[in-house]
Amino acid sequence: MAERRTPRAGIVVTGTEVLTGRVKDRNGPWLAERLWELGVDLAYTTIVGDRPGDIEAALRFMAGEGLNVILTSGGLGPTADDLTAEVVSRAQGREMVLDEALEERIAEILRPLAKRWPNLDMDAIRQSNRKQAVIPEGATVLEPVGTAPGLVVPPAETGYQSTDSHPTLGPTVVVLPGPPRELQPMWSEAVKTQALRMAIKDATEYRQEMLRLYGIPESEIAETLRAAERGGVELSRLEITTCLKRGEVEVVTRYEPGEQEVYEAFKAFVRSRHADTLFSDDGSTVDEQVAALLRGQGRGAPTRTVATAESCTGGLLVARLTEPPGASDYVKGGIVVYGNEAKVAQAGVRPELIEQHGAVSAEVARALAEGARTKLGADVGVGVTGLAGPGGATVQKPVGLVWLSVVTAASEPLTRSVNLPGTRADIRDRTTTVAMHQIRHTLLHS
Ligand code: ATP
Ligand code: MG
Repeated sequence: MAERRTPRAGIVVTGTEVLTGRVKDRNGPWLAERLWELGVDLAYTTIVGDRPGDIEAALRFMAGEGLNVILTSGGLGPTADDLTAEVVSRAQGREMVLDEALEERIAEILRPLAKRWPNLDMDAIRQSNRKQAVIPEGATVLEPVGTAPGLVVPPAETGYQSTDSHPTLGPTVVVLPGPPRELQPMWSEAVKTQALRMAIKDATEYRQEMLRLYGIPESEIAETLRAAERGGVELSRLEITTCLKRGEVEVVTRYEPGEQEVYEAFKAFVRSRHADTLFSDDGSTVDEQVAALLRGQGRGAPTRTVATAESCTGGLLVARLTEPPGASDYVKGGIVVYGNEAKVAQAGVRPELIEQHGAVSAEVARALAEGARTKLGADVGVGVTGLAGPGGATVQKPVGLVWLSVVTAASEPLTRSVNLPGTRADIRDRTTTVAMHQIRHTLLHS
């Protein structure tokens, strides 16, 4: 049997706005993730400006490295500076030809637009319409999500040849538009095309699973991996990566379908060692779990409502709680009480509590939680007060000290403090994660 060679890919992100950092690249990382799922090895991501020469140089470099597939993003629009299709066509050794049927389909897309803007220069529109319908001969068209069609362009005999020894032509190039909301659905179409499937046909099929843990340092997971190995779990059959994200540890495992049992053994091992910190083994996030618990899902319980009174997070927690669509079913609201007067006037905190214990204290956190619950008529009240810094620290109360309290009618209040590292932004964000876990814990135990 011939040895299977994992297909290799490169990504060329184009756009001067991305190169300069004015727009943050969302396409490179997203495509990297998709390639990983497909079992294609990503070798390079290159960001270039809108200059054709630079795009061409990036393509030439990647072809020279013997890559099987190159994905480009951006520069597919109707204007004269959108040149990716033309550059790719040249690199692949293919002529540019007008696809009349495609021209008609793009015109169809533009028709309602022209109606909405009656003063548009129709000639200019027709011209740019035509430009987008001129494509490399032999390319597979990916139907436009906006107005720009994407392309899958196989190499021609005269295109760049790879310089290493294996007998392939150059790479197949997948040309995708810049706006992420257009690129993402078009990638799904690209994967279905014969041309791309051919280019990555030797890819291994992988499964991917994620474990999430909270309240554990990453180093302890490293120790668990060593212990699993000693305990006979064949970790060499799995590809495990761990990373710290928003205060949680994510353990992502990729494996071939035949290794399912090894993964199950690994998961059971982690569960046995970290029963209290492993909160998700099905990919669900704490936000999804809190939403489901509030809705009473899976427990046949009625919906419970939640409200917050927030000081140091300034409303970030209630913003996070309201991210899922339909959150109005269970989020009553939030009170932002940044100053002490507001804590008293809006959340009903007794001024003596603040005088005696300070605004950042267990007592005030608890009073905020009670205030949120009663003022907004919710089942669950959450209070948050802390020092996000950089100023304001004392010996007893360092920057990063945050008190959180969750109260319900049915259970003992859960009031705790944490000391969070990082910048002001880190501390404020991390506080919302701590709060989500504290809410989850309360809901599970009441
Ligand atoms: P259009 O028809 O909109 O011009 P296009 O394919 O020519 O599409 P670009 O002109 O390169 O795409 O980019 C259009 C816009 O899409 C950019 O201004 C930017 O807002 C967004 N965009 C492009 N590339 C990226 C990227 N890598 N990450 C995030 N956003 C991007
Ligand atoms: Mg453009």
